[in-house]
Amino acid sequence: MHSQGTLYTISAPSGAGKTSLVAELLKRTPRLEVSVSHTTRPMRPGEVDGVNYHFVSHAEFEKMLESSAFLEHAQVFDNFYGTSQQWVESQLAAGEDVILEIDWQGAQQVRRLMPNTVAIFIMPPSKEALNERLTGRGQDDSAVIQRRMDAAVAEMSHYVESDFVVINDDFDTALADLEAIVRSHRLSLANQQLRHQALLSALLS
Ligand code: GDP
Ligand code: ADP
Ligand code: 5GP
Repeated sequence: MHSQGTLYTISAPSGAGKTSLVAELLKRTPRLEVSVSHTTRPMRPGEVDGVNYHFVSHAEFEKMLESSAFLEHAQVFDNFYGTSQQWVESQLAAGEDVILEIDWQGAQQVRRLMPNTVAIFIMPPSKEALNERLTGRGQDDSAVIQRRMDAAVAEMSHYVESDFVVINDDFDTALADLEAIVRSHRLSLANQQLRHQALLSALLS
């Protein structure tokens, strides 16, 4: 049997810190990859095409939709976002664990398609902190930030659909929490049986 990685979704209101946390988590964790989504959103200063997102036009996004290229897709604010099905499946088949940083609509779609998905929700420590982080990031104007604050409550109401909830108050604590989720999942019976087939049969012979 081939090893099969675990699929994680990480959802959070914009500004809760999921991008920063996932970037640090990846540095510390072997065999863990993050999917680079396709988006029609304009690039922010400092973002790099193919690294933060694959930035595409509406027409390109539509073409990908028609050719069933997306595992899931959703409209968030005024923009479309989608996850490449081919990339995710090839990583999982190669035994890599994969993180999708996607909104609740996408997380619901993925959960229906792949029921073994582990869903994580990241919460800010307060609404005030969320507002400060969105402002402090300095990448969106005040109208965009107000819309994101309004949308935050709607996004956060979906935390009950997740398996794990991490509060991002102290960054290092939240990071350690995420590491613990991945590490404990790797130690589950099903994953250990996959990873240590030869050892387990040798021990029991
Ligand atoms: P940020 O979260 O504030 O950095 O803003 P982004 O523009 O990067 O993301 C906005 C929203 O789109 C967030 O809720 C993301 O979780 C969501 N998102 C990003 N990529 C995808 C995707 O591929 N699919 C879905 N469904 N949502 C996505
Ligand atoms: P998201 O991807 O969820 O929109 P980001 O990772 O871009 O969020 O984080 C939003 C802002 O908050 C960034 O400027 C980031 O450096 C900051 N931030 C993230 N986590 C914390 C934390 N625990 N304490 C203070 N600031 C944080
Ligand atoms: P290493 O090859 O350094 O032992 O481990 C590499 C990665 O595999 C680490 O992220 C570690 O957490 C994970 N890992 C280590 N031991 C096991 C194990 O027994 N089972 C599983 N599924 N993952 C493991």
